[in-house]
Amino acid sequence: YEAKKKRNSVCLFQPHLEMHYLRQMQIEQFLRGAEKRGEIYLSYQPQVDAAGNLFGVEALARWQSPELGIVAPDQFIGVAESSGQMGPLGAYIIDLALSEICGLRHRCGLDFRLSINISVRQFADDTFVRNLIFKVQESGIPFGRLCLEVTENLVIEDLQRVQGMLGEFHDAGIKIALDDFGKGYSSLSILRHLPLDEIKIDKSFIDDIVTDETALKMVQNIIAIGHNHGMAVLAEGVETSEQLQILKHCGCDYFQGYYFSKPISATSLEAFVSQDH
Ligand code: C2E
Ligand code: MG
Ligand code: MG
Ligand code: MG
Repeated sequence: YEAKKKRNSVCLFQPHLEMHYLRQMQIEQFLRGAEKRGEIYLSYQPQVDAAGNLFGVEALARWQSPELGIVAPDQFIGVAESSGQMGPLGAYIIDLALSEICGLRHRCGLDFRLSINISVRQFADDTFVRNLIFKVQESGIPFGRLCLEVTENLVIEDLQRVQGMLGEFHDAGIKIALDDFGKGYSSLSILRHLPLDEIKIDKSFIDDIVTDETALKMVQNIIAIGHNHGMAVLAEGVETSEQLQILKHCGCDYFQGYYFSKPISATSLEAFVSQDH
């Protein structure tokens, strides 16, 4: 019976593992050079302030693969990181976001901020800071209107190095946001050691604030910590007006989520900002 049970469990499990591995390998293979073939594009999700005014947009990477169809960033960013492709891919994303948003800011005459997600792998390149600062200067977007989003889990991998490089960006006037705060094994020392301008509270807390007293109290505490240290606080994944009312009541500064808008194309964003935002 034991042997049969073992055999059965192996049989049930293995195909799933193999499928997962196969998928990762396909993504790795087809992703190589995707940015050069024009398969990578960006969606933008608006971020608003408490008065409902447009404060910024977050650039979110999308991949339209001829072989695999649309692949979500949760699937391909990790593969890009582990297969050494994040450098060129990240550089492409930065170039595209800067050019699209600079054009749009100029045409609509609105002074909103651009946020870009940065992988820790991009910090491995010694020329990263210099190159990015040069690109921002060239693009004409004010330093203070660019925000780099980093996640705590990844920063921990190489805290000292990332700390130094973020310090250089911060000194240049570029904003730094800590993404997905509270999602992983958050450490307060991250807040203490990084030159952060903003904390983004992870969606998982926002999901529960209406029904769960503990989640609500934690959100209140995160906002207090942020404000006590001179940081702005943004709530991610706001989907209902109820959540928004609670968050406003807690003194949260900025909001982002489907309640306001899903991530949209640069063209749709232009229509969105041309409304009375
Ligand atoms: P993130 O930076 O935390 O981005 C927020 C994610 O939550 C986005 O998913 C967004 O579409 C989704 N979202 C926003 N509001 C809501 C909401 O109200 N409800 C729900 N259900 N979801 C919401 P997306 O675009 O699939 O991106 C997933 C993650 O992939 C990002 O999380 C980020 O970690 C990573 N990523 C995306 N683009 C890039 C990139 O250009 N570079 C790097 N390094 N990572 C990226
Ligand atoms: Mg982000
Ligand atoms: Mg996030
Ligand atoms: Mg996230």
